Amino acid sequence: MGCESYSGLLQQIDEFKMKVVYNAKELGLDANKKIYECCVCNKLFNWDDNSSWFGTLKQWDETPHKLKFFCCDPCSDKYKSLNKSR
Ligand SMILES: [Zn+2]
Repeated sequence: MGCESYSGLLQQIDEFKMKVVYNAKELGLDANKKIYECCVCNKLFNWDDNSSWFGTLKQWDETPHKLKFFCCDPCSDKYKSLNKSR
């Protein structure tokens, strides 16, 4: 078992949580709900009808930090077109 990478992951999550709590009020987000970070525009957002994610169900279960989240359809489209062209 990779204990080091696991604690590294926990630290990443802690930093993200701190950032979220710090920004939530300013951005008008509900900190009691789960907050995601858009991987295209880096906006923090509460999940809604416009949000989407990209990844596999295996990642969802095992490495959720590797999933990509999008605040809106344009961001999701942008990510997919950028990754297609590479
Ligand atoms: Zn976005």
